[in-house]
Amino acid sequence: MYAAGDVRVQEVPDAAIVEPTDAIVRVTRACICGSDLWPYASMERTDSGQSMGHEAIGVVEDVGSQVTKIKKGDVVVMPFAYSDGTCAFCHEGLPTACVHVGFFGNNGMNGAQAEALRIPLADGTLYPLPVGEDDALMRSLLTLSDVMGTGHHAAVVAKVGPGKRAAVVGDGAVGLCAVIAAKRLGAEQIIIMGRHADRIALAREYGATDVVSERGDEAVERVRELTGGEGVHSVLECVGHGASMETAIGIARPGGAVGRVGVPQHTEIPGSLPAFFGNITVGGGPAPVRAYLDDLLPDVLDGRIDPGRVFDHTVGLDGVPDGYRAMADRESIKVMVKP
Ligand SMILES: [Zn+2]
Repeated sequence: MYAAGDVRVQEVPDAAIVEPTDAIVRVTRACICGSDLWPYASMERTDSGQSMGHEAIGVVEDVGSQVTKIKKGDVVVMPFAYSDGTCAFCHEGLPTACVHVGFFGNNGMNGAQAEALRIPLADGTLYPLPVGEDDALMRSLLTLSDVMGTGHHAAVVAKVGPGKRAAVVGDGAVGLCAVIAAKRLGAEQIIIMGRHADRIALAREYGATDVVSERGDEAVERVRELTGGEGVHSVLECVGHGASMETAIGIARPGGAVGRVGVPQHTEIPGSLPAFFGNITVGGGPAPVRAYLDDLLPDVLDGRIDPGRVFDHTVGLDGVPDGYRAMADRESIKVMVKP
């Protein structure tokens, strides 16, 4: 990506081992993320461009001399962040705060919308899958690199649990996965807040019990009506706008929690006063998707959850620029890339 709206497919030097802890992964599936749409809308032009993509599944083609857990031929999930797997934060289940963390397709780091890429800290980062590279579950498995783990993180931080009321702000792929996560963790009522018919329909199939398509104060009012005037215990904020955050805090029940996973587009969190007087916990951040794989993978393999339905469009590498456009124009929920 060279600037807002300017995505190009280019030949680059082949990915190669640089550090002895690296692996090279041949990408079999990648995708375009809702968070890729922020730079697609606003990135200032650069001469060097930014290699894009942070979600992938692939096959390990080569490993460095110090890699011991990952081996050539493994089919692996590449979480959107790399991490060493050994530091205090990795041990605490927060690899996105690893002391050696980095984010693919960001800040000059190579991206996964590519035929292959170099993976730093391969042992800590990659997660081997017990399936072949063209397994029928591949779409759902691919969501474990970001959106399903991110939706789950929103639910965990928002303290979703059995019998609780939850609301999901945003009907993009992460919001839809957040519905799956809220249901999976036992929420009794799940309100999806969005306004795209195709997405709402999928949200209902995933377990949403109510739909709120209003915005701002009207949305807050509507959620209160649906919850006996109280608001919801758990708000899963999957957008990242100031306005969506304000709504999220507005619909939280006193003592409730907001789990925010939409990449914030503002430096300040609005709603400080209502959050304070409602004793509302506001948390969240980059989801530790690597740490959630042990928990979520069995549910995908057994077919208990089916997050891969968020992909409604598949392109080859040449189709990636049009894939960005389709997602930005809301023609597509999420685009899968099959290099
Ligand atoms: Zn670490």
